[in-house]
Amino acid sequence: MADKGLRAQVADMQDLEQDLHHREAEVELLQETFSEIGSELDLERVFQIVAERARELVHAQTLLIPLLDDNCETYTYRGGAGVNADEIVGESLPLDFGICGWVWRHKKAWWRGVLDELNDQERNDWEKEAGSVILVPLQGKKHFLGGIAGINKRGGGDFDRRDLNMLSLFASIVSIAIENAMAVQKIEEARKLTENYQMQLQRLNRQLIESNRELEYLSLYDTVTGLPNRSLFRDRFSQHLALAQTQAEHFALLLIDLNNFKEINETLGHERGDQVLKDVARRFQIYLDGKNILSRLGGNEFALLLPDADRSQSLEHAARLLQQLDAPFDIDSMPIAVSANIGISLFPEHGNDISTLLRHTDLAMFRAKSGKQGISLYDPLADHSSPSMLTMTADLRKALENDEFELHYQVKVHLEDGRIDSVEALGRWHHPVRGQVPPSLFIHVLEQNGMIDRYTHWVIETAIEQISAWRKQQRDIRIAVNISTQTLMNPDFKIYLEKLDALADIGSNLQFEITENLFLSDYERLCETLSYIRQLGITLSIDDFGTGYSSLGRLKKLPVSELKIDRSFIMDMDKSADDEIIVLSTIELAYNLGLKVVAEGVESEKTYQRLLEMGCDMVQGFLISKAIPIEKLEQLLLDREN
Ligand code: C2E
Ligand code: MG
Ligand code: MG
Repeated sequence: MADKGLRAQVADMQDLEQDLHHREAEVELLQETFSEIGSELDLERVFQIVAERARELVHAQTLLIPLLDDNCETYTYRGGAGVNADEIVGESLPLDFGICGWVWRHKKAWWRGVLDELNDQERNDWEKEAGSVILVPLQGKKHFLGGIAGINKRGGGDFDRRDLNMLSLFASIVSIAIENAMAVQKIEEARKLTENYQMQLQRLNRQLIESNRELEYLSLYDTVTGLPNRSLFRDRFSQHLALAQTQAEHFALLLIDLNNFKEINETLGHERGDQVLKDVARRFQIYLDGKNILSRLGGNEFALLLPDADRSQSLEHAARLLQQLDAPFDIDSMPIAVSANIGISLFPEHGNDISTLLRHTDLAMFRAKSGKQGISLYDPLADHSSPSMLTMTADLRKALENDEFELHYQVKVHLEDGRIDSVEALGRWHHPVRGQVPPSLFIHVLEQNGMIDRYTHWVIETAIEQISAWRKQQRDIRIAVNISTQTLMNPDFKIYLEKLDALADIGSNLQFEITENLFLSDYERLCETLSYIRQLGITLSIDDFGTGYSSLGRLKKLPVSELKIDRSFIMDMDKSADDEIIVLSTIELAYNLGLKVVAEGVESEKTYQRLLEMGCDMVQGFLISKAIPIEKLEQLLLDREN
């Protein structure tokens, strides 16, 4: 009995010892866990440690950590260890679902011992597996977090009260760490969000700066050529002016005006017009060095400030700039001729402020346009009373209304017998202050300002009246009228001609002089317009032949009957062998194409004779007569007849 008692005592002692070992191990595990997660802020790592330690603590096959989600409607398995844990972690379920739902509702642990508290339905559902699940709540300091669940006791059997106590104790220790780590994660997320916002903000800021820069660029630079625009030019001009004033330096201001740009735009379209502008700007830039201020003021006008340039240097530069335009521009494989005029004024000679200098340069340019050489320096005496472009436009508008224009006529003579049966009508305008304004100039301004159609209509109607008057006197004389490309290519021109009833009768006594560059226009439209004109009996002549670029192919196909060799070739024929060859080959070309040839600008007897030998059909020039008013012309015709 005593033996048995002793054995029993020893057994008890051994149990006690084992129990103590367990306890020690458990305490150690708890301590370890506590110290490990106490300093761990990475939430995933915390879940992993908690899951693994808890699984050890209660000897569970699987351990899961379901936590309530922020939406308060679902919970998600955030951590896990053991069998199938990998597949379950990350799953979300509705809040009231299963045993978890029960724990959330009751805020107390689930284990076998709660069976009595279940309602019938719950008991039915969960009775069988009641002991295989243990789930203790995780209660944070501020919030209810979720729980720690052990599933299936390793080695079989149910989770018991000891497991419940241990896991509850464990949960209370780790809940704070979990709550902290969750808070840190939230802060981290918020930080990332802020960082993201900051990055977005920085990006937006950068975009804003970029668009501001673009806006600034658009407001200061010309988008076609990339050159400074008018306002930036004025700005730089005034800076330079202030500097030059304080340092007693001089400079030149140049205005460069492209002559036929409007025509290029009309015939080739604006895209190609822009290309021409770009190429012109590039040639100027290549020629100039960096110290100059080149800008596009708008339309066909460029401005250039040449620091330190005096009179002769500025004239030299201007000539060189014009030379840059000598070679044709290659636009879509078409050679395009561009010419320009340059007006110059000098600081301080010609003005002390921007507006005076600009005005004087404008006047000089104006004179350059009316002259022959294309370059003009401001001349205080000559330009004293000259109108500027602006006043000129207004004056021309008035001139149109008040019928201030006049037609003068220049005869064309048949070389073989001296016969005169045709004249060219040339516009004349007497400006109230400036006197006679060269037609090349006022025609240009009319073209630039949309008034050329109206003017041309007046010329045609005046010519028709004259032809009719001559018809009544039994005179059969043809009048040639110059038609601007702009007018000819305007669809309204055909409509205008349709309404001119007189044409049916006297159309054959009318001729239109058109320029070569017209051949660059939309071929079909041109063909249609020219054919219509021919139908009216009006003949077509190509004026200033040799100065533009005409395509022989097109020349052959279009209903043209006459070529007028430009006066620049005729006037220099005596001196230049090249010009003579050009004239001769043009006459041959015309002959081969079945066209009549007129030589304009015949000033000498020698030229007259040479043209006769060459087989030229007609001549026009000062040798025979300048363009003269109608009364004088009639006298000339009478004299000739006698
Ligand atoms: P254009 O049509 O080539 O006219 C011939 C020009 O050469 C005229 O100049 C004429 O006076 C000039 N000329 C004729 N023979 C000689 C000569 O022997 N020596 C010299 N040095 N010059 C001679 P103008 O009258 O000054 O006209 C210049 C240009 O203005 C014309 O060239 C024409 O393109 C344009 N123009 C004149 N009137 C009109 C018009 O009513 N409508 C249009 N669209 N243009 C016109
Ligand atoms: Mg002409
Ligand atoms: Mg001509």
